[in-house]
Amino acid sequence: MIVLKCAYCKGEYPADSLINLCECGRPLLVRYDPDRVKLRKEDLASRGRDMWRYRELLPARRDPVTLGEGFTPIVPLRRLGSMWDIENLFMKDEGLNPTGTFKARGAAMGITMARDLGARTVALATAGNAGGAWAAYGARAGLRVVVAMPADAPEMAKRECVAYGARVFLVSGLISNAGKVVSQAARERGWFEVSTLKEPYRIEGKKTMGLEIAEQFHWDLPEVILYPTGGGVGLIGMWKAFDELEALNWIGKRRPRFVAVQAEGCAPIVQAFADGKEESNFWEGASTIAGGIRVPKSLGDFLVLRALRETGGTAVTVSDPEILSALQEAARAEGALLCPEGAAALAAARKLREAGFIAPHERVLVVNTGSGLKYPELLRVDPSVLEGERRIP
Ligand SMILES: *Cc1c(COP(=O)(O)O)cnc(C)c1O
Ligand SMILES: [Zn+2]
Repeated sequence: MIVLKCAYCKGEYPADSLINLCECGRPLLVRYDPDRVKLRKEDLASRGRDMWRYRELLPARRDPVTLGEGFTPIVPLRRLGSMWDIENLFMKDEGLNPTGTFKARGAAMGITMARDLGARTVALATAGNAGGAWAAYGARAGLRVVVAMPADAPEMAKRECVAYGARVFLVSGLISNAGKVVSQAARERGWFEVSTLKEPYRIEGKKTMGLEIAEQFHWDLPEVILYPTGGGVGLIGMWKAFDELEALNWIGKRRPRFVAVQAEGCAPIVQAFADGKEESNFWEGASTIAGGIRVPKSLGDFLVLRALRETGGTAVTVSDPEILSALQEAARAEGALLCPEGAAALAAARKLREAGFIAPHERVLVVNTGSGLKYPELLRVDPSVLEGERRIP
């Protein structure tokens, strides 16, 4: 790691600093010198099966705060693929991470750096899952964690944060409101703010998804990656990871076409993409059952839009009924219980195949960002389908 560089104005800041945004108000990204990365592909064979196997490509740390996050499986979805005429349909199952979502990657990296750089209390706004992840890793590192989330965040997310000993504030409105509350409190109390893209290290954790995808596809990237996009950190992270791998000569110039998937009820990036804009507008009245992508405005929208355009990708919406139906279909046809955000990406794969954006033989990877088990309220059961023992013949 050599420097922190603004993704917008190219302003530079010293590496290893406890810092939030650039002076211009945009996110900072960690930059490495590829000549100084002493990692060879062969080294990976003997490494642990978690995200720290790529530690040379992460802000250098001796003993990370870890619960074994990362190196999640890539699962072929053959039956859905044949139903939908996508011969090579895959899911990267992030639901197997500690705390049940890929937020664990960003939290492990972010908490490790916050601890090492001297933070005592970290504070963040969350739609739910980031709160659980940062609370868990904060507990493990012995840091205090303050979480603000929408009052209507999933029940599990609230209970999980409390279980890990975090202070939880329920805020009216959306994650954007929770963000305002947290920023102000953090400034007044001297807490280190770690909301989405407000510090440079979460994205380094999430980029490990891209490193893994490259390794798991034997350094021959799939043609399409569909990502349920809220703040877009995972998408920006994968895009960054592929650039870093190219700088090491581990992969070539070709990139997967990135697809940002959003809900019909909250689609600022899709709108900006369609309008040819470089940034999104705040989405009024955001609403969808997929809470992780109910983000009306992202600090990193301009980076997501760049990634989509540079890779020949696109941005699409799906409706809540389409999300629920993809969730049910994947459960029944594949034995895979996706989170609603992952199900949104899956539903989009089907739509884009029908629209011809995806060709039948292309390798298509859906990122399932979390486990369906975190959303019991979406798995409604009609009591009449649960049969009593008398009915057993
Ligand atoms: C946070 C979250 C997302 C969105 O992630 P971003 O990187 O902010 O776009 C998607 N799915 C789940 C389950 C999440 O928790
Ligand atoms: Zn800047």
